[in-house]
Amino acid sequence: MKILLIIADGLGDRPLKEFEGKTSLEAARKPNLNTLAIEGMVGLIDPIQPGIIPGSDTSHLNYLGYDPFKYYTGRGPFEAMGTGLTLKGGDVAFRANFATVDSNGVVKDRRAGRIREGTSDLAKHLNMKIEDVDVLFKEGTEHRAALVLRGEGITTDVSDNDPHAEDLKPRDIVPTSERGAKTARILNEFYRRSLAILRDEPVNKKRRAEGLNEANAILYRGGGQVPNLPNFNQKYNLTGGYIAGVALVSGICRLVGLKDFTPPGVTGSTDTNVKKKFSAAVSAMNEVDFVLVNLKGTDIAGHDGNGIAKKEFIEKIDEAMGDTIMKIRDDTVICFTGDHSTPASAKEHTSDPVPILIRYPGCRRDGVGVFDEIKAVDGYLRLRGADLMNVLLSSANRAEKYGA
Ligand code: ZN
Ligand code: ZN
Repeated sequence: MKILLIIADGLGDRPLKEFEGKTSLEAARKPNLNTLAIEGMVGLIDPIQPGIIPGSDTSHLNYLGYDPFKYYTGRGPFEAMGTGLTLKGGDVAFRANFATVDSNGVVKDRRAGRIREGTSDLAKHLNMKIEDVDVLFKEGTEHRAALVLRGEGITTDVSDNDPHAEDLKPRDIVPTSERGAKTARILNEFYRRSLAILRDEPVNKKRRAEGLNEANAILYRGGGQVPNLPNFNQKYNLTGGYIAGVALVSGICRLVGLKDFTPPGVTGSTDTNVKKKFSAAVSAMNEVDFVLVNLKGTDIAGHDGNGIAKKEFIEKIDEAMGDTIMKIRDDTVICFTGDHSTPASAKEHTSDPVPILIRYPGCRRDGVGVFDEIKAVDGYLRLRGADLMNVLLSSANRAEKYGA
C-alpha cells in the first residue's frame, strides 16, 4: 500500500471562549475527517517528546525519521531554507541582515529602516564566487536574509561581524579555531565586496534620495552547517514526494530527497487552494509510494490568535478531502495530524500533544468516531513523532519483522 501523510501545521488547539470551551478542531464541521476516524484509529502524538515545544523544522525532521537532537544544527540552515534557497549537506548558512552604515563604516541602523522593498534586487547581486567558494545570498522578510557558503573547507568556526548594537563598526570576522581561517577570509572579503556593490544599487540611490536608511551593508551571525541527512528513499526503500507551500518545510523535504509535487499557484497560508494540493497528492501517488502534504493555514491562524480562521481552514481541508483523499481509501494508508499545537489562545507553538488519525483497509478500529483533541484521548494511538514512520510503514505492509 501507499502512504499519504497530511500535516495540518499547528493543528492542535486549546479550548476557546468563542467556541464555548471547544477547540477550533472540535468546533469545525468535518464530516470527512470524522468518517476516517470511524473507519480508522485515532489518538495523540507527541511530535518530539512530552514537554518539548516543537518547531516546524524539528517536528518535520522527527516525523520523517531524522532525530532532531542529532541532525538539527540550529536555525541558520533552516531559516536559509525558509527563504527558498536549496541547500546541500555541508553548506554553512548564516542569518543575515541588511543594515545601514555611514561613510565611516559605522552601523547606524542594524535593520536598514526595516526595508521592505527592493531586497530581492539587492540580494541577486550579492551572489558571487570568492576563491573556490560559492556565496549564495537570498532575501527573507523585511531586512532579513540568508547567507550561505558552499565549498571545500567551509566551517562554522568563525566569529560574527554583527556588532549587535548601533554606533559601532562591524567586526572583522576571526576564526575561532584553525579550521576557520578560510571561512573567515571568505566572509571578510564578502563584506568588502558587498559594500561596493550595495552603494551603487538603484534601490539604495532611491532610498538616499528619499531620506530613508540605505541597505548598504550586510551583517551576519549564527552560522550553522547543513546536516548530511541519509536519503529518505534509501533509508526506507521506497520513493517519496511532498507538497508544501511554505519554504521551510519544502527545504527540509528536498534536503532528505523527497520529490517536489507542489502544484503552481498554491500558497503557505489560509488562502491556499487545498483541493489543488490534494489532487496533486493523489496523482503523485501514481508515481511514488509516499507523499507528505503540509497545510500551513492552521498554524498561521493560530499565530494570529484567530480561532475562527483556524476552524474555517480546517473546514476547508475537510471539504477538499471529499473528491480527492476519500477516493483513494482502498489502497492507501492515510494519516492526518499536525506537526505541533499552535493554540489560538497562545498564539505560539505549545507542547500539547496533537491529535492523529490513521486509516487503512482492514485496520483495527477503536470506536472513536469524531476527530478532535478531546475525543482522541479515547482512541487507540499513543505515539511519539519518532515512531511515526515505523507505524506508517508497518501499516502499509512495508516493514520487516524484528526477530524470528
Ligand atoms: Zn509547524
Ligand atoms: Zn508556527
